[in-house]
Amino acid sequence: MRFNTVIIGGGLAGLTAGITLQKAGRSTAIISTGQNALYFFSGSFESLEEAPQRITDLFTEAGIGLHYNPGVRLMPMGTFRKAVLSLEDISLFPEPKIGNKALIVSFTGYHDFFCSFLAEGLEKQGMQCRVKLLNLPELEQLEKSPSEMRSVQIARTMDRIWETVVREIRILLRDEDTVILPQVFGLKDTSVPSRIRQGVPAQVVFTGTLPPSVPGVRTQMLLKRRYELLGGTYLMGDEATGAHVHNKVVHSVVTQNLGNHFLEADNFILATGGFFSKGLKSNPFEISEPVFDLDVEQAEDRSDWYNPEFMREQPYMKYGVATDPALHALSGGEPYKNLFAIGSILGETRPDLGTGGGLALRSALAAVDEILKPDEE
Ligand SMILES: Cc1cc2nc3c(=O)[nH]c(=O)nc-3n(C[C@H](O)[C@H](O)[C@H](O)COP(=O)(O)OP(=O)(O)OC[C@H]3O[C@@H](n4cnc5c(N)ncnc54)[C@H](O)[C@@H]3O)c2cc1C
Repeated sequence: MRFNTVIIGGGLAGLTAGITLQKAGRSTAIISTGQNALYFFSGSFESLEEAPQRITDLFTEAGIGLHYNPGVRLMPMGTFRKAVLSLEDISLFPEPKIGNKALIVSFTGYHDFFCSFLAEGLEKQGMQCRVKLLNLPELEQLEKSPSEMRSVQIARTMDRIWETVVREIRILLRDEDTVILPQVFGLKDTSVPSRIRQGVPAQVVFTGTLPPSVPGVRTQMLLKRRYELLGGTYLMGDEATGAHVHNKVVHSVVTQNLGNHFLEADNFILATGGFFSKGLKSNPFEISEPVFDLDVEQAEDRSDWYNPEFMREQPYMKYGVATDPALHALSGGEPYKNLFAIGSILGETRPDLGTGGGLALRSALAAVDEILKPDEE
């Protein structure tokens, strides 16, 4: 099988590159082993201090609403964190104060949303809080098995019964100016969070649950759908295990499921994520990149990899694949001609491109621009 570009890794970076290349008329395939960091996504993109038009257009065309409103967001423990570009159901506030009285609502049997910690955190900041659990017969089936009572399963039900939730909240509401709900709405029907906001006569704030993150899973599903609608080939559940390479040119990639049917292309993009997604691996002697054995920037002495004070910044989190200025991946200090590394596999080796979601988006667009650049004769 031959494509213009083969992308390894189908998270935020890989999908952004794939969508942009498909839109430009290039044929692409994405190989992805499975879950990615979006399943843990807070809903706010790190290190995007402005809202680049290309990024907002890409998301809007995929059916994902964004808003840009520099401020802070409410965290699950009642604290606040700086946030800028976010999904539209994430509330952003100019300062760490969201109101005077809050009604915090969750569901009987649901343990992945910590109402009491949230209330405690907000009360420390002078907000009065009241916690209420809704006992919904529609969730009884899920309640029978604690492993089913997770945010994504609940969100599937909520897409159908959100009007009941609004009705119950209206009955419960006294003089609270704010209602806080777990982020378990709008998994498939993306209009649900705004319809809840319209139906409740108080400010509604959705806040984080334990993973999987419903806003993140929704983002992944919508980006993947957009990519496939544009004609992209998404090879879900496959893993790139090696490559055919000659003179710093990659010719094809070998995958677990396709066996001898190699994926050939003019360009290759490596978007396999950091340690979390196994884009980077470590053993007691070195940190390595498993598909192409690329150069990884790291301290030589293992004792410098980490800070023994666990809660401190950890040096290994900054390590990543080495690239040239155009994001060509390096091996033995030399750049590959047609292999680009993007997203969190870069660690913090490219501070010019930011961190987290900002890095994934910026590096994907930069690599695509390089691929689309007319050939210099
Ligand atoms: C727990 C967690 C929470 C985060 N929360 C936020 C947040 O709220 N906001 C923010 O801005 N940033 C967040 N980040 C940073 C995050 O890394 C980026 O935002 C971004 O989602 C990374 O995207 P990526 O595509 O580079 O990598 P990933 O999302 O890690 O995707 C890499 C994909 O490649 C696949 N893969 C790996 N190896 C292979 C292979 N050999 N063959 C095929 N596929 C392979 C993996 O299975 C995975 O699907 C978070 C990171 C983590 C780890």
